[in-house]
Amino acid sequence: MTGIVHLVGAGPGDPGLITVRGAELLARCDAVVFDALANPALLAHVPADAERHDVGKRGGSTESAKQDDINALLVSLGKAGKRVVRLKGGDPLVFGRGSEEMQALAQGGVRFELVPGVTAGVAAPAYAGIPVTHRGIATSVTFVTGHEDPAKATTTTDWHALAKGGGTIVLYMGVKTLPNIARALVEGGLSPDTPAAAVQWGTHSTQRTVVATLTTLAERAAAENISAPVITIIGNVVSLRAEIEWFEKRALHGLRVAVTRATAQAGTFSSELRELGAHVIEMPAIVIEPLDTAPLDAALATVRDYQWLVLTSQNAVDATWNALRAASRDARALAGVKIASIGPATGQALMERGLAVDLSPKRFVAEGVLEALGQLGESMKGSRVLYVAAEGARDVLPEGLRAMGAEVDVVRAYRSAPSLSATNELQGQLDAGVDIVTFTSASAVTAFVAAAGPQATRIPAACIGPITSEAARAAGFTVACEALQATAPALVSAIIAWRWAQEAAQDASEPA
Ligand code: SAH
Repeated sequence: MTGIVHLVGAGPGDPGLITVRGAELLARCDAVVFDALANPALLAHVPADAERHDVGKRGGSTESAKQDDINALLVSLGKAGKRVVRLKGGDPLVFGRGSEEMQALAQGGVRFELVPGVTAGVAAPAYAGIPVTHRGIATSVTFVTGHEDPAKATTTTDWHALAKGGGTIVLYMGVKTLPNIARALVEGGLSPDTPAAAVQWGTHSTQRTVVATLTTLAERAAAENISAPVITIIGNVVSLRAEIEWFEKRALHGLRVAVTRATAQAGTFSSELRELGAHVIEMPAIVIEPLDTAPLDAALATVRDYQWLVLTSQNAVDATWNALRAASRDARALAGVKIASIGPATGQALMERGLAVDLSPKRFVAEGVLEALGQLGESMKGSRVLYVAAEGARDVLPEGLRAMGAEVDVVRAYRSAPSLSATNELQGQLDAGVDIVTFTSASAVTAFVAAAGPQATRIPAACIGPITSEAARAAGFTVACEALQATAPALVSAIIAWRWAQEAAQDASEPA
């Protein structure tokens, strides 16, 4: 059995820009060999037990020795019978040395296949609102490496010919050599006023673009601290950006948001933030743990003796459902029992199990549930209520129900436990910069501060509701924004409004 090496284009950075074939191959490989420009987020496709080889780190060895080592590694993994993915940034064959690796594999007698990728020279301009061709403006495009300094005699690129070509010039690897390249192009006859743009970290949530002219771009880019990886676009197509820019305009573009929610629940919240352009840093501060199930099992054994079942979180729905299933029962066990939920996410978790909610409050807090029950018209007097709650949950609900004359059994079914620890990884994430930290419970605030340390309270906080905000303030945070309703979408809206206000304040303080 011989192995096979798939050279796969990872795309330019946005993890959604890998091909379907590339993602499929990653999902069933035995080993992955990746370099610095392949987004590490793509490794999430790779099976947990696959070998991971990071060959992107700059070592002490020369570049060609490093390439020889990579070639040798690919050949040996292939000969060992493994299914190998060689994951390369952008397209493997566009300034990627993929073909050198194919030559080595051919010489070593190892089978290989190639999966093209979306190259940065097309994708970075596209995400900057710059088409590389446009009818009437540019009928050709040249991809050229800026690796070769035109000031040196060894250059093999004919910059003068390029200047006369009239098409768009897309430069890879040209940050340092840009001043000399610009000079050579002007000497070749290209107007010094030709629009030019530099796109750093194209398609990443950190993408930044600087627009200037051929002769002023290098200086402007340096002033804005633009450093590799950068794609430079030279040509009149750059002026179209003013009208069709889109990516950097998204509401949360580039905002570094820490999400402290338990991993199981962070999914849709994080993806909504990402969809708006945020750079999401997941720091799950708490984990939901089930408590001893005996009290819940006992209550559910006679659940039809209750008139109401009150579930105030998805975790309560999970706990109740798991207990029913463990007893080989299903939704029919709750026939005749009315269900009160707290908000849309709880309602949705119930609906997924075939259970429609009888009561959902206007305000998604315990007080809201009480108000809604109070307004029902039917008296709660003498009603038996089963309330499945978290350890440490407030007593507002049972006390309020008892005051209405109901008989309430509270079963504590789960708790949130701290899950974040003060690791180097966490410190590294904090040091890299967090613009806002999101909290969806008071317990997450406490757990986050315990792991991140008191200086982390300098980060502005976005909170799901008043009780969480209170906990955040008590811990030393400034609450930047609070959701109008206790839902993830409302928290996202609050963050957008906060950012608008920030930007407006900044614009106002800048001289016109
Ligand atoms: N094979 C890759 C290019 C590798 S050469 C591809 O097809 O995209 C490395 C150069 O690519 C970098 O110096 C930079 O000029 C460019 N590059 C790669 N990814 C980039 C990105 N996300 N944003 C801007 N430039 C990028």
